[in-house]
Parts: sequence; structure tokens; C-alpha cells
Amino acid sequence: MELLDNPIQRYAWGSPTAIPTLLGKPPDGTPQAELWLGAHPSAPSRLRSGASLEELIAEAPQRLLGDASLARFGPRLPFLLKVLAAGQPLSLQAHPSLAQARAGFAREEAAGVPRDAPHRNYKDANHKPEILCALTQFHALCGFRQRSESVRLFAALGLETTVLMDQGLRAYFEQVMTLPKEAQGALVDRLVEAARKPVKGFEAECQLAARLHALYPRDVGIIGALLLNLVTLQPGEALFLDAGNLHAYLEGTGVELMANSDNVLRGGLTPKHVDVKELLSVLNFADGPAEVLRQSAQPEAVYRTPAPDFRLSRVAVAGKPITLPSRGAQVLLVVEGEVAVKGMKLRCGSSVFIGADEGAVAVSGTGTVFRATPGNA
Ligand SMILES: [Zn+2]
Repeated sequence: MELLDNPIQRYAWGSPTAIPTLLGKPPDGTPQAELWLGAHPSAPSRLRSGASLEELIAEAPQRLLGDASLARFGPRLPFLLKVLAAGQPLSLQAHPSLAQARAGFAREEAAGVPRDAPHRNYKDANHKPEILCALTQFHALCGFRQRSESVRLFAALGLETTVLMDQGLRAYFEQVMTLPKEAQGALVDRLVEAARKPVKGFEAECQLAARLHALYPRDVGIIGALLLNLVTLQPGEALFLDAGNLHAYLEGTGVELMANSDNVLRGGLTPKHVDVKELLSVLNFADGPAEVLRQSAQPEAVYRTPAPDFRLSRVAVAGKPITLPSRGAQVLLVVEGEVAVKGMKLRCGSSVFIGADEGAVAVSGTGTVFRATPGNA
């Protein structure tokens, strides 16, 4: 078992206080967006020896990952755990399926697009399903809202809805995303102006349009955002974002677990590269309400998803010692209270890596622990 020292990503959208509060450290006045717990080559966790978790795993992949994980995912940790602290909205985005990522990565490699080029879409050949579990109340956009509801909202805002009504979400989204920039800006201006007078039943959406417009004036992503389900998660509730799901995290702190990939296709609300054609090729236009995952099982509540790469669970420790059965390599993060793992006392914000060879893990104390392991591959 290794105590982890985890890198912080200071993206501009990060909350200046949420991650320092979790770690019990004074804020330094700058945004701290993500805490990365894992072995990702660009920012691996550090061990007390000073080595990185990536190096540790590379030295003994079979012992630390186990045979099943090694055979399926290769000599690396198949998942990356994060604490995500959004003070401001993140970009509108979707992630490719495994087949799309493999094809896209091969295409860009063949075309000689440098891996760190700003217009590179596929940084690796892996898919990136992800699950976000709220630690605080958490606001997000997730998947296309029931189309008839969007027609009602857009009509109330005075926008043309014939294509949306007659030809569907794909046709409408494609039409808007491929308009000339000036026409997109004019459309957004009209929408934001109309949304000053809140539409009944869509008050929060109308407020969101104004907020996004203040951050990203005339950005076509605002139209996309208003086609999505606006979801508010309570602490302990989670969203699973599968391939092709258009989503954006808006505000709040959560624990996020994802496959070991960096493949993001953006649809706006960002100064970064937006490749509309590539985004359209991966998007899932199925409409309807977002599914919120709720777990109340004790002591270990598992958030079930179809992702083979990872499994997230929340362990409530309340005095009585608990044994967590072995599931291969795992990362444990304490988000509340004080918990002893294999006899080592861990405060809030502390985390450990436990190799597959260590078997079942004894946990005691009082608090809440998030547990990341491989999925049911
Ligand atoms: Zn995402």
C-alpha cells in the first residue's frame, strides 16, 4: 500500500477553495480545478519514495495490476480518479467510443498531426467513459432533453423550430453548428435577449443562458447547452457519461472516475479547438431525461455502469471495521472523517494505492471513502 501525493491541475474554471478545503490546506487565491489520483503519464501521483505511481506500476505490472487487468488493459492502471472542483462551467463536450477512438487516433497519426497540436482530436486510442459523483450540490448538462420540450423552449424564445420539429435533433444541431460564425452570434444574441424574460418551466435554463453568454459571448455552444438536460445532483448522486453523450459540468465539487484517456471532442463554451465534423460523427442524439444514479447500500455502495475500465463505490465507515474484497489494483480516497486502511490512519483528503496482490483490505474508523477499482471486464 502506498500513500499518494496527488498533482493539482490549475485550470481557470477551477474553484479556488474546494480542493484546498478537502485537503485541509489554506487556499492560495488561485483556481484549483482537478486533483488527479492515478498513474496518467502527464501527471502521475507521487509516492513517499519520490517515485511516481506510473513508475511503480511499470516495474511490477503483473503483481500490482493482476493478470486479468494486465491482459485486458495492458501494463497500466486502466482508470484515472479525480476530484473535480468547478467554479465556472467547463466546455460542452463528448467522448468517442473505443472503435471511434482507435480509428481517429490512427487517422491523425497517419496524417502526421503532432500529439500536442491544439487541433489534435485524438490524444490516444482509448475511449473515455466517465462517472461523476457529487460531493456538494453539483450542476451539469447531460444528454439531449426530450425533443418536444426543446421545441417548446425554443419556440417560446422566438427561435425558428421547423427543422428541430420536422427533421430532428441531429439535423437541427448540425445546421446551427455549421452556420457562419456571424449568423451563430446573431442567433445567440436573439436567444439570450429573449431569455431575459424567463420561460415558464425553464427559469434555470434561461438564467444559464445569460451566465454562459457573460463568460462566452455569442458562443454557439449556448444553443447546444439549451438543448441539454440541466441536472442538479445532490451529494452522493452520480451521472454516467457514456460515449457520444453531450455534456458540460457547470458548478460544484465531485469525485470523477474515468478510463485512462484524454480524448475530448468539444462543441463550444471554450477557447480551445472545436472540430464540428468530428463531434457530429460521435454524438448520440437519443433524447430524454438524464439518468441519475443513486446509491444507498451500506457499507459499500457501488455505482453500476457498463464501463469495463472502472468501478466506483462509496464506502461509509461508521465505527465497525469493514473488509473490502479484492478487485485488482485500487485507489482509495477519504473525503470525510478519519479512516484507517490496513491500520494506516488517513485524514480527509488522503489517498492510497493498493496493489492487486494485497488481497482484501480492512477499513475502520468513521468517515466516507471513495474506492476506484477496475470494472467487471
Ligand atoms: Zn467529459
